[in-house]
Amino acid sequence: MGETRHTRVLIIGSGPAGYTAAVYAARAMLNPILVQGIQPGGQLTITTEVENWPGDTHVMGPDLMVRMQAHAEAMGADVIADHIAALDLSRRPFTAEADSGTTYTADAVILATGAQAKWLGLPSEEQFKGFGVSACATCDGFFYRGKKVVVIGGGNTAVEEALFLTNFASQVTLIHRRDTLRAEKIMQDRLFKHPKITVLWHHEVTDVLGDDSPRGVTGVRARNVTSGEATDIPCDGVFVAIGHAPASELVRDQLELHNGGYVRVEPGSTRTSVPGVFAAGDLTDHIYRQAVTSAGMGCMAALDAERYLSGH
Ligand code: FAD
Ligand code: NAP
Repeated sequence: MGETRHTRVLIIGSGPAGYTAAVYAARAMLNPILVQGIQPGGQLTITTEVENWPGDTHVMGPDLMVRMQAHAEAMGADVIADHIAALDLSRRPFTAEADSGTTYTADAVILATGAQAKWLGLPSEEQFKGFGVSACATCDGFFYRGKKVVVIGGGNTAVEEALFLTNFASQVTLIHRRDTLRAEKIMQDRLFKHPKITVLWHHEVTDVLGDDSPRGVTGVRARNVTSGEATDIPCDGVFVAIGHAPASELVRDQLELHNGGYVRVEPGSTRTSVPGVFAAGDLTDHIYRQAVTSAGMGCMAALDAERYLSGH
């Protein structure tokens, strides 16, 4: 049996929402414990330059998250490298079981578990994951120096990944299922002007093609969604950038969810369907999904938790 630790506020997740909640909860003298999860720093640790964090015209995502952690710790938050495997919100204090064996009990919980990359769901994609199929250009782009890569998707992530990959690859093909991108206009402008990038509109990838010995990608098969015609596109790497799904597994049967798994919060607050449990950031937000909005919700969650605890 591991140890049991009690805290007034347990914060689960170490992205912008979690660290901001920790700064505010620590300054409210609530001695919060923050459990980081398997991606300390959250999604911004897998990107390069962030250009829309107020106060920094350019900041590297991983550097920003190191600064946020240092800020939370300087204010007195206890930041712990661990992962919560199970959460019981049916009794008070709330109980969280961590992978390390530690049990956390808490008077209030702030959920800030964010979101994770979505995959196409193809058996061939699964077969070549880590062998040419990736969801993180920042992590794996370096392996494709002088090679051809394909990026799938039409949002900010796909466009950013495509632009970033031009630093290494000889040719980048962005495959999108429609003829308009969701990405910000400034990003689209950069994409269309880039000599190494070609966009294949109205196509869906139906198969990742590759060899078994050694295991590696040789191309993708794409289907024209209007004509149904299939085309094979030779490439060495495939970057899937089709969005993210909320990490709500811990609370799936315990809290009200909406829009395919996002935790529902009362409008204008971070209160969930269980009193004393608050949620912030991408876990709750299917619309904005930005670092700054997540941080803003983290602040709200700490203030909501403080108010809740002072009333109990
Ligand atoms: P996340 O950053 O998703 O962090 C979630 C945290 O929860 C992680 O630390 C994880 O380890 C933890 N966690 C999950 N499950 C558990 C568990 N069971 N136990 C403990 N911890 C757990 N936004 C911008 O504003 N500007 C950008 O330039 C920008 N670029 C981006 C580039 C990429 C490639 C991606 C993927 C996203 C980008 N975004 C950008 C979006 C931004 O990263 C997110 O909106 C933001 O990180 C969400 O913050 P969050 O705190 O809600 O969650
Ligand atoms: P997103 O905006 O949800 O875009 C996902 C894209 O993938 C869409 O173009 C979608 O196509 C496509 N797609 C989804 N499922 C697909 C499938 N099964 N097959 C083929 N294509 C599929 O996701 P995101 O780009 O990851 O962005 C998520 C959030 O993070 C957004 O709010 C974004 O603004 C933010 N973000 C911001 C920045 C930045 O500010 N610089 C950078 C990265 C991310 P359709 O268009 O046809 O639906």
